[in-house]
Amino acid sequence: MTNHAPFMAEALAQAQKSYDEGGLPIGAVMVENGAVIARGHNRRVQDGDPTAHGEMACLRAAGRRPRYDGVTLYTTLSPCMMCAGTIVQFGIPRVVIGEAENFHGNEAFLRENGVEVIRLDDPGCTDLMARFIREKPTLWDEDIAGNDPAS
Ligand SMILES: [Zn+2]
Repeated sequence: MTNHAPFMAEALAQAQKSYDEGGLPIGAVMVENGAVIARGHNRRVQDGDPTAHGEMACLRAAGRRPRYDGVTLYTTLSPCMMCAGTIVQFGIPRVVIGEAENFHGNEAFLRENGVEVIRLDDPGCTDLMARFIREKPTLWDEDIAGNDPAS
């Protein structure tokens, strides 16, 4: 059985990095054969790029590859529809989610499309995101255009 904690800790470190830069604290890492092969964090504020969510930045950092068999994507926050759609499009078989309290995300959509979803309910991920939403509610609202599918 995979120990998810060290990989989620790396994703959370990416989230913290973005927070420290004044950006949205959402991080992701891609894992293959028990090793992190790519890291990314939300870059909406840093790059002025509305589609630069943590998961997208991580996929971009991983670069081109023909298939994603055997890959696991760790993300600190439950994926929005853009990121969930990208995960399904490229056939990423497994997603590990830090938390889904601050944003409900699209776990059902992922499961319906054959993705294995594991949610850790990690308090570190929840606390950092909650803190950011308290401090910068307008920036958070902009990241998802007010659209949390389950809320
Ligand atoms: Zn997203």
